[in-house]
Amino acid sequence: MCRRCVRICEELQCRNVISLKERSFDTIITTAYGRPWSETTCESCGNCVSHCPTGALSAKDHKKYRSWEVRKVRTTCPHCATGCQMDLLVRDNRIVGAEPADGPSNHNLLCVKGKFGSYKFVGSGDRLTHPLIRRNGQLEQASWDEALDYMAEQFREIQKKYGNDAIAGFSCSRAPNEDNFVFQKMMRAAFRTNNVDNCARICHSASVTGLAMTLGSGAMTNPIADITGDVDVILLVGSNPTEAHPVAGTQIRRAVRRGTKLIVVDPRKIDLTNDAALHLQIKPGTNVAFANGMMHIILKEGLADMDFISSRTEGFEILEQILEDYPPEKVAQICHIRQEDLIQAARMYAGARKAPIIYCLGVTEHSTGTEGVMSLSNLAMMTGKLGRPGCGINPLRGQNNVQGACDMGCLPTDFPGYQKVANPDVIHKFQTAWSVELNTRPGLTSTEVFPAAIKGSIKGLYIFGEDPIVTDPDTGHIEKALKSLDFLVVQELFMTETAAYADVVLPGVSYAEKEGTFTNTERRLQRVRKAVEPAGLARDDIQIFCDVMGRMGYPCHYDSAAQVMDEIACVTPSYGGISHARLDAGESLQWPCPSKDHPGTPILHAGRFSRGLGYFYPAVYKESRELPDEEYPILLTTGRMLYHYNTRAMTKRTEGLNEICSESYIEVNEEDAKVLGISHGDKVLVSSRRGRITSTARVGQKVSPQEAFMTFHFADGNVNRITNAALDDLARIPEYKACAIRIQKA
Ligand code: SF4
Repeated sequence: MCRRCVRICEELQCRNVISLKERSFDTIITTAYGRPWSETTCESCGNCVSHCPTGALSAKDHKKYRSWEVRKVRTTCPHCATGCQMDLLVRDNRIVGAEPADGPSNHNLLCVKGKFGSYKFVGSGDRLTHPLIRRNGQLEQASWDEALDYMAEQFREIQKKYGNDAIAGFSCSRAPNEDNFVFQKMMRAAFRTNNVDNCARICHSASVTGLAMTLGSGAMTNPIADITGDVDVILLVGSNPTEAHPVAGTQIRRAVRRGTKLIVVDPRKIDLTNDAALHLQIKPGTNVAFANGMMHIILKEGLADMDFISSRTEGFEILEQILEDYPPEKVAQICHIRQEDLIQAARMYAGARKAPIIYCLGVTEHSTGTEGVMSLSNLAMMTGKLGRPGCGINPLRGQNNVQGACDMGCLPTDFPGYQKVANPDVIHKFQTAWSVELNTRPGLTSTEVFPAAIKGSIKGLYIFGEDPIVTDPDTGHIEKALKSLDFLVVQELFMTETAAYADVVLPGVSYAEKEGTFTNTERRLQRVRKAVEPAGLARDDIQIFCDVMGRMGYPCHYDSAAQVMDEIACVTPSYGGISHARLDAGESLQWPCPSKDHPGTPILHAGRFSRGLGYFYPAVYKESRELPDEEYPILLTTGRMLYHYNTRAMTKRTEGLNEICSESYIEVNEEDAKVLGISHGDKVLVSSRRGRITSTARVGQKVSPQEAFMTFHFADGNVNRITNAALDDLARIPEYKACAIRIQKA
């Protein structure tokens, strides 16, 4: 009866599920009005359980230990890039639970994935424990020496026959910075190719490219606590944070309770729509038109910050001319919204003193994704909302360390710290640091590697911790590409769909079995600590890369992840002052942190943009590459859901999460369902020009008529069998968010 759970649910989680019922001696703590849990808005975040001081509430796993039997290991959640701090509870080399810790981005909260989905997979019985080599068509157990010798022999053979650039490598955005740094070093120094990329290519490469072009730095400008703190308006575009970045989403909900006005710009009625002052339910793929429409109104109504434009930016005149062509009536027609709502949104955003833009994959995963990002950047610059607290342009990055994987140079055009391969001085710098002659040709992006494999110019591929069969668009074309390769190596925790195609499978280790750092979406470096020993013969990933490098003729050795971070600091100016020692001493560092006495940089572009003057990119609206027609009359868009993460490799090994959702579904508007004769829960066939899948219909009003939505978490009924692999011209990101489909009752 201390009511801490009631207050956490109401004041921090803002869900109001737990409540007091009856009065006086009869008072009990239960759900509001005593309704069944399944009928409440409980999201199973477990924060009530974590903070109950008496044990009146406890997690089911709590039965497995007494609090004095466990050791706590402070680490960072391995799911999304919010970067929540947590303690893993370890008993006898087994993780038995997770508790929230007080980190700068989570303040003692976790979401359901962090609390319950972050540790069971580590001790799962189906982890890969031995290297495997394909013999006579079958993957068979092998020793490490056999597997590594065979790999080196095959890769050397490919180099000899086809050249160094016939090999490519994909690094793992879920792995620590130190692993990513050594992986790209292996590709560049040992394999002598710049064909190295990471999964940012298919989520936020448009942010990396777009923000670098307009502002000079492709990263979130302000911290989460700042943009969800004392702000007047939040402009949330193409982002569903209460499901994809739940602890950040909770903080937005809290800001609204304190009086912040929320504008949601999203094709779906997302959870936060309920808290929004305004919902602009735009048609998927119309972000550029929306942003240009906002700017047209802001200019016409004299709400632009002309001092900021003249003193800190360039290129405004050309954009100004383009904006003439985006009056509200035209934009309303393109975006399928009311022009009054657009006008109101423009006035609210421009008129606010503090108003951050927060966006996510709804902006980036389009064939015009980079232009969508740059249009939002134009909007922030035009209103002078950059370089100061409570403002900025803030991409919520997807994977836990996708920011770090990019920072570490797992990009075909960039060495660590975005130092360009095309710059001879940079090549000289790394040749000197690594004592090796480097390839000077920029490499292929991951989305270019697959067509190149089909064409025959890529022959060998080394995939570290990615599962493109499930995650990449147009699965049929990925399968064809993998089958076209001469040699495929996959380094993984589990036998994934992609690993099943490999010639060699290497067992790596999870975040809980190694030391290192993740860089969260705010550019904040946080420690990852070893909690348990890996199972079987699984080996630390850095050690595997060093073993491979040695066999490829470039001997390399590190004693520890801390030593790798010291090398990162030496060659990467923005990480120059970062070390494990500083982080272990309790410092919280956001890059740029150029020297050992630098405190880090919470807000970018204060006083001056990273590129000098901010650049207004003149983007014009272009339609999505594939639009509905008679044959495929519905526009499909995709996204994430709360209870699973990406391919579910980690979350599907937690029973409770599967109990809530374990199968593919498609959201269909009730008007369309009526016409198609489909009811809620019916099995349906969903087809596009690329393939056909079976899914389950969820009928309602979340999506507009003639639109549909699916998540990409489920291998059965995987939406990527039907999504479109059309690429953005600048960042080469695929158009996951818009393709034409047909739905029929199965
Ligand atoms: Fe983990 Fe993201 Fe949830 Fe935080 S919000 S607990 S980082 S999944």
